[in-house]
Amino acid sequence: MTKILAVTNQKGGVGKTTTAVNLSACLAELGQRVLLVDLDPQGNATTGCGVGKRAAMPTVYQVLIGRSTVAETRVQTAFAFTVLPANRDLAGAEVDLIELKQREYRLRDALGAVRSEYDYILLDCPPALNMLTVNGLVAADTVMIPMQCEYYALEGLTDLVATLKRIRANLNPVLEIEGLLRTMFDPRSTLTQQVSRELEGHFGSKVYRSIIPRNVRLAEAPSYGKPAIAFDRASKGAQAYLLLAQEILERRSANRPVATDQRQQSGAEA
Ligand code: ATP
Ligand code: MG
Repeated sequence: MTKILAVTNQKGGVGKTTTAVNLSACLAELGQRVLLVDLDPQGNATTGCGVGKRAAMPTVYQVLIGRSTVAETRVQTAFAFTVLPANRDLAGAEVDLIELKQREYRLRDALGAVRSEYDYILLDCPPALNMLTVNGLVAADTVMIPMQCEYYALEGLTDLVATLKRIRANLNPVLEIEGLLRTMFDPRSTLTQQVSRELEGHFGSKVYRSIIPRNVRLAEAPSYGKPAIAFDRASKGAQAYLLLAQEILERRSANRPVATDQRQQSGAEA
């Protein structure tokens, strides 16, 4: 079954885009069919996987306002996954969407047509709680929250959890937290260690075991239009995202209902 996963945190620069691009590439490498949706007018996820932000091409903006479909707009990357690109045009969506019916459901409805073609659809949300992020959270099954373990992180998290509650109550009752991801981790910092422990205390098994270290190769790779596994596979950053992808797949198969497993097994024996 397809899982739509929104990578979100209203705080800027915490590693959302780095996570969305690298996780897409690593899940694809592990055999998953992946679509990455760039929901940020900055278009960093688009360029980060080697797709140009040409002004003329249709982007997720045209999809949201109903002028193009996902099938017409998505672009195959060189890394075994597909991207629904964004560019500056998307900044206008906030205003244009106000006029449209069902404005919170535009992305969900558009993805409905291609959903079954993918195992994972990852949404790279902008650092704001605007109509684009709301569209992402309404389309999503779960959210992944990348965060830096620093003093204000937990405060921001309280706001985010409250937002998710509101979305669940009003727009998307099935939305769940998939997991919290510690990014740009520096184990030498005492504060980092302390915040990290507090996070585990509050959120328990929702915190991924995999931790993304601060690693310069992760910061360099986007300027070459490559995910880290294609840029420097042996780097600590690339390896950390591969382990994260594995952890996500393991968690998923562990959560699969027993009845489904049994049906599959008996199917295999028949
Ligand atoms: P925004 O809120 O602006 O969308 P973001 O949350 O998507 O930002 P990124 O763009 O992924 O964050 O990362 C912010 C900056 O930090 C980028 O320059 C990125 O290359 C760098 N960066 C991200 N993760 C790491 C890491 N683990 N190690 C080193 N640099 C990193
Ligand atoms: Mg970003």
